[in-house]
Amino acid sequence: MECKIAVIRGDGIGPEIIDAAIGCLDAVARRFGHTFRYSFPPMGGAAIDATGVPLPQETIDDCLRSDAVLLGAVGGPKWDNLAGHLRPEKGLLNLRSALGLYANVRPAVLYDQLRAGSPLKPAIAKKGVNIMVVRELTGGIYFGPRGYRDGKNGQEAYDTEVYSIAEIERVAKIAFDIAMGRRKKVTSIDKSNVLETGRLWRATVNKVAKSYPDVRVEHMLVDNCAMQLVKEPSQFDVMLCPNMFGDILTDEAAMITGSIGLLPSSSLGATKLGLYEPIHGSAPDIAGQDIANPIATILAAAMMLSSSFSLIQETTAVERAVNVILDKGYRTLDISETGNKKVSCSKMGELIALEILNS
Ligand code: NAD
Repeated sequence: MECKIAVIRGDGIGPEIIDAAIGCLDAVARRFGHTFRYSFPPMGGAAIDATGVPLPQETIDDCLRSDAVLLGAVGGPKWDNLAGHLRPEKGLLNLRSALGLYANVRPAVLYDQLRAGSPLKPAIAKKGVNIMVVRELTGGIYFGPRGYRDGKNGQEAYDTEVYSIAEIERVAKIAFDIAMGRRKKVTSIDKSNVLETGRLWRATVNKVAKSYPDVRVEHMLVDNCAMQLVKEPSQFDVMLCPNMFGDILTDEAAMITGSIGLLPSSSLGATKLGLYEPIHGSAPDIAGQDIANPIATILAAAMMLSSSFSLIQETTAVERAVNVILDKGYRTLDISETGNKKVSCSKMGELIALEILNS
């Protein structure tokens, strides 16, 4: 198979973790006989320095001509004082919208080898955490009408939550499709006891569920879900969330797995062109030191192999290689404990790539 991948290295640790991920993709290409052609369009701070804007039109065009987009991370103190529309992070928001990406998919997996690093009680962590959170990305309160107005007690601000049936349906279908390849359970999160959008969300999810008779659907209020995530996270398979609830719950889900450096995410839309990235930012505090954990970006590349290219065996090879290297006790600084073999970012990438080649 031949695929074109737009690789956005980004800022801070972005170039370091991307190099490690490309090493692993090259290993997949050699081991399974594929050709991955890369282009390196700029975005974020690097694009601001080169062109004056965080997302040049050429970058959008390059991504649209590609089969998938792999991103490191953008942002850093150098660009913090720019106006909102010129900041690096705005480039990412605009890219997601230019590519029509309306669902963010984030696994939260607690690796057995790293259980001790989870803030969960050992008895709870022992039952395991393997959740796929599907978050609606382009609707809801972050995009509804907003502003300031004069109220009876002086000036007030307002934001509005708006969801259409079509917006809920399309993201729900992604959640149900993913559940079909997993443990066949969708937990849909809302606040239907208070919000009209919550009631529409629940009714629409129930309607979509009728097309997936093999998938068990369960509804949970968001406040209860926040509690259940730390009380009994093993009950969740696929979690389907509106935009703001997903924003909050994905951070909670990431935290219970112990390290931000391990978790990938993908943003998906109506086509196979997805955007794959680690959940963390550009970590300017450790940039340029070759100590970042590249595993989240390597696993983001693995998500790309399955979601955009349908290369399931190859995805398994990457995920297996990560597990083997963790089993052998190799750790980057962020997950290192006494008795482990501490390695650099580039070394971790090399070890995983070698394991893919030799598996
Ligand atoms: P961050 O995720 O970059 O870092 C938070 C902490 O986690 C830091 O201590 C960092 O050293 C550590 N960390 C992050 N990734 C790591 C890795 N792979 N290995 C080891 N340690 C890691 O969050 P922040 O400090 O709040 O943000 C820094 C910059 O990144 C900001 O400019 C922010 O806007 C941007 N950001 C970008 C994205 C993105 O590109 N998708 C996402 C979040 C934040």
